[in-house]
Amino acid sequence: MAVETAAFTEQTDIQRDITEMVRQFVDEQIIPNAEHYDHEDSFPEPIVEQMKELGLFGVTIPEEYGGMGLDLTTYAMIVEELSRGWISISGVVNTHFIGSYLLMKFGTEEQKDHFLPKMATGEIRAAFSLSEPEVGSDVQGIKATAKKADDGAWELNGQKMWVTNGLGSGVVFVLMKSDPKAEPPYKGMTCFITEKEPWKDVNEGDFAGLSVPPKIKKMGYKGVESTELVYDGYRCPPERILGGEEAGLGEGFIQMMDALEVGRVNVAARGVGIAQRALELALRYSQERKTFGKPIAQHQAIQFKLADMATQVEAARLLTRKAARMKDAGARSDLEAGMAKLLASEVGKFCVEESFRIHGGYGYSKEYEIERLYRDAPLLLIGEGTSEIQRMVIGKKLLQRHKI
Ligand SMILES: Cc1cc2nc3c(=O)[nH]c(=O)nc-3n(C[C@H](O)[C@H](O)[C@H](O)COP(=O)(O)OP(=O)(O)OC[C@H]3O[C@@H](n4cnc5c(N)ncnc54)[C@H](O)[C@@H]3O)c2cc1C
Repeated sequence: MAVETAAFTEQTDIQRDITEMVRQFVDEQIIPNAEHYDHEDSFPEPIVEQMKELGLFGVTIPEEYGGMGLDLTTYAMIVEELSRGWISISGVVNTHFIGSYLLMKFGTEEQKDHFLPKMATGEIRAAFSLSEPEVGSDVQGIKATAKKADDGAWELNGQKMWVTNGLGSGVVFVLMKSDPKAEPPYKGMTCFITEKEPWKDVNEGDFAGLSVPPKIKKMGYKGVESTELVYDGYRCPPERILGGEEAGLGEGFIQMMDALEVGRVNVAARGVGIAQRALELALRYSQERKTFGKPIAQHQAIQFKLADMATQVEAARLLTRKAARMKDAGARSDLEAGMAKLLASEVGKFCVEESFRIHGGYGYSKEYEIERLYRDAPLLLIGEGTSEIQRMVIGKKLLQRHKI
């Protein structure tokens, strides 16, 4: 049961049709099966196959490459629906979406022709890799290197961490230090498009030198794998530098930060989706469970919780859509994307915790969906920049825009 918290949703006909289609898919295919894949921590292959058939890997990829050519706003609406079902499913498409954004914005014609048609169908899926064992927030501190060999190829070495879709992806957009002496360091960083064999832990042949250690065991966000990646003499041809060697060398940091801006809208949409689901579960449970002779929903303290949850979901949704619409309109939206990510991820955690409380002891039982949401929600506070980092971004942008 999807609960409409607002009748006025401000959607175009296409947006309404596609979100209704995805909502139905989520209700029929994702929600009933999420518990199984979460419990087994196994990749939800049948669900992902159906998503390919629905075209969900190519939502923002232009039609000329076989995608739907839709905007960030519509994509955010889809992500909200998918996350309402299970945030791991949105994790399967998230890094893929960032990879396609990087190609569409910065890729050469050859790179677009080579990757986008296969990415639009989901035949190959993309991962996105900045983090390392010792570096997360402070991206300029990465240590993995790229060195040009005598034959013109680039040799990549170093360890990456927390790569979502690290094993199942066929292509990884990875940030490397190509000029260790550059000052400031970000000017010496390059994004390499590294191809690999999906689901293979040790790559051979053209992709030799890239291995994937066993997936990291996590408290939630199961089903979609998070892995390390070890580059050990991996050879990357110069034409696989994002944007080409001439234009792309030393541009990686700026390209990746640009992609994170749309990534933040995407994480915000995930926060709205999980918060919405927590509210739905709370609304249902509170009308079923009775204490002191009446449904707990009739106790004012519970109604206040529901009211706060619904209000915050709505605020987070509006801010997320505003950030997406600004980006689609070509306006600067770094501040709004940071605000949306900060608010929606915190709202996600807040609503899940309130819903958990409303479920009483049963919230602690694996028989109830809220138990999974409780393990899944905290990821959103961390991924694509923690809440502390969002506040830093917001503070900096505010001062830039209001300099006296
Ligand atoms: C499940 C999962 C999936 C992920 N997927 C990906 C992926 O696909 N690709 C990828 O590249 N990365 C991925 N990440 C990594 C993620 O982006 C980082 O974990 C995140 O950026 C935080 O970095 P960190 O863990 O190194 O924390 P740190 O940077 O070590 O921060 C630790 C704490 O210090 C705070 N802090 C840091 N600097 C400051 C400061 N200047 N002022 C105040 N507080 C500060 C942080 O907010 C945090 O609370 C994933 C992480 C997880 C958990």
